[in-house]
Amino acid sequence: MIEVKNLTKRYGDKQAVNNISFKVEKGEILGFLGPNGAGKSTTMNMLTGYISSTSGQILINGVDILEDPKKAKSYIGYLPEIPPLYVDMTVDSYLGFMYDLKKCKLPRKAHLKEVCDLCKISAVRGRIIRNLSKGYKQRVGLAQALINNPPVLILDEPTVGLDPNQIIEIRTLIKKLGKNHTVILSSHILPEIQAVCDKIIIINKGVVAADGTADEIAKNITNEHKMTLRIEGSTHTVNDKQEIVDALKKIEGVKYVRADMERERGIYDYDVEAHENVDIRRAVNNLCREKGWNILMLQLSNLTLEDIFLKITMGDIVPGRDKADIVEKPAPKIELSVKDGELVASADDESDNNGGDK
Ligand code: ADP
Ligand code: MG
Repeated sequence: MIEVKNLTKRYGDKQAVNNISFKVEKGEILGFLGPNGAGKSTTMNMLTGYISSTSGQILINGVDILEDPKKAKSYIGYLPEIPPLYVDMTVDSYLGFMYDLKKCKLPRKAHLKEVCDLCKISAVRGRIIRNLSKGYKQRVGLAQALINNPPVLILDEPTVGLDPNQIIEIRTLIKKLGKNHTVILSSHILPEIQAVCDKIIIINKGVVAADGTADEIAKNITNEHKMTLRIEGSTHTVNDKQEIVDALKKIEGVKYVRADMERERGIYDYDVEAHENVDIRRAVNNLCREKGWNILMLQLSNLTLEDIFLKITMGDIVPGRDKADIVEKPAPKIELSVKDGELVASADDESDNNGGDK
């Protein structure tokens, strides 16, 4: 449905988007995840034909956005970072205007009603847009994107600035829309992407740092087998601890064992790390069976998307790229931290300070 090949955008010397390629199939929800200034909006603006690319190709439903922009754009509903609202109009007159602008052929009254119902703005159709809350404004923006029922929806940070209830509502709506539309959604908020998207592209400093499903991305970069075990020894005293640590260390493939806190009376947790691609779960079971110990918990330490994102953007691991590539590109000099589930990036150069988001 959407095919992007070697897309690049330069602003003077500044490489905002650098050789990005990806595909989105029909009915998929793709998430663009990256800190402010990563190049998400620039990419979306190119996808929608709002700005031109420096090089590369974009096909929407097989149509090149530069060769036949009118046709390609007719497949797209776009909600830009700042919704294009005429705030002096009422919701009704604005949506009617968009209906005309898009030369929509669907039955006017019924279609507008359907869109308003879907976006839950039917109650405010007579109101002046300026007076609506941020959440409602965002929904009007979304309604505008849905007019003419385009098969592709491109939504740039659709939940930014909304309160938690509004965020959940918009997410639910996007999921619902994903059943009948191909959706590309950008966000710098991890849980959001995780909750809504089928596929994820992590973009950082204009390049794709990782792509795939959350699981696939995790698999690619979890190259160590780490787990936490809670094992009940035979004496329920601190003596168990050393005996268990020693025994675990003897399992083939184990490279690291650490006894953690006493989690239940006389029972400890153990962090165990095995060598790459070594699955020690059965050996652990056998050991406990032989010794008469009980495994009360076994938890693989899966990386969260957050861990992955930090690893990738800090230049720790770049899956799917060989080492030579990593050496060539120095690790980005950005400081990332996570605050209330949101990524906060601070840059040591100007690039992220004028990222357009804030
Ligand atoms: P994101 O949406 O991921 O926050 P953007 O796509 O807005 O990032 O920006 C990517 C980079 O391109 C940023 O470093 C930003 O400063 C730069 N940029 C964006 N638009 C322009 C422009 N019109 N002129 C110069 N630089 C720009
Ligand atoms: Mg942006």
